[in-house]
Amino acid sequence: MREVVVIGSGCAGLTAAIYAARAKLSPLVIRGHEAGGQLSLTTAVENYPGFPKGVQGPELVEMMEKQAAEFGAEYMEGDVTRAGLSTRPFTLEVGKERIETRALIIASGASAKLLGLESERRLLGHGVSTCATCDGYFFRGKDVAVVGGGDTAAEEALFLTRYANRVSLIHRRDHLRASKIMADRLLRNEKIKPVFDSVVTTVLDPEKNEVTGVGLRNVKTAEETFYPCDGLFIGIGHSPNTALFRGQLEMDDVGYLKTSNGSKTNIPGVFAAGDVQDRSYRQAVTAAGSGCMAAIDAERFLEAEN
Ligand code: NDP
Repeated sequence: MREVVVIGSGCAGLTAAIYAARAKLSPLVIRGHEAGGQLSLTTAVENYPGFPKGVQGPELVEMMEKQAAEFGAEYMEGDVTRAGLSTRPFTLEVGKERIETRALIIASGASAKLLGLESERRLLGHGVSTCATCDGYFFRGKDVAVVGGGDTAAEEALFLTRYANRVSLIHRRDHLRASKIMADRLLRNEKIKPVFDSVVTTVLDPEKNEVTGVGLRNVKTAEETFYPCDGLFIGIGHSPNTALFRGQLEMDDVGYLKTSNGSKTNIPGVFAAGDVQDRSYRQAVTAAGSGCMAAIDAERFLEAEN
């Protein structure tokens, strides 16, 4: 039986692993299907303290992973397919493996949201993407569109200017939600063309298995237009990966785990850290901070039982 298992290997899970490993709890980190979390899908991180010239997201996450391993953390590939939290020890299934643990830290993060269009679903991976860092290279010299008006969309659009000929930012309002520094950068960039007050109604052309453009509707005038482009990036935010815990752990209306007194969930011995329980800050540094809190809370919980 394990003392502590950490679900998720983004910066919340890895920071929890560093602290739990240094507390000699030999944590097992179950990496999940988006190993490394959102940092591994990003480029330069300029606001993580200690890196005056910025640091690449994947490099930062790799350093955290090594740091935790240095103190005895172990890693397991795969996704948790079932979590039994009603009795102790808690049980987790990862494929055919069954793991028992005295304490559990959930840091399963949040995944990219989609618009919910059938055409979008059919073209996902064929010109529709949720990750500019992963797929931007395929659009060298092409025209692409990004949907969204927050920091995710701004970051995607700015990143895509490295490769694309033109980047259109399609947003349903007439002003951006992104932070001022990102919005200024975006609006100053000559390659980026904002398309405000518009929603995507369809993505063409699923029959050709490639993106040839998007149908747009102006939300103020109801005018319908066709906007030609070669790729569509969806940057409208994320939703928490908590389906496994529905009916077991308390969540808010959109599924973020509820925590109190630090990282405690409603089940003693189960702690949550990072984006899975944070719909307001969602920064690498806050995720890391909450991972630290979850490990300390787990350590204190186990200590009290011994
Ligand atoms: P946000 O919730 O901030 O923004 C989502 C955007 O997508 C909004 O503009 C929203 O429109 C739009 N949107 C949502 N759903 C739809 C839909 N169905 N159709 C069309 N548009 C839609 O999410 P982000 O992921 O951008 O940011 C989340 C948090 O993470 C923020 O705190 C942000 O600062 C942070 N972040 C920081 C980064 C950095 O510092 N480098 C990078 C990325 C994120 P509307 O405005 O109308 O609601």
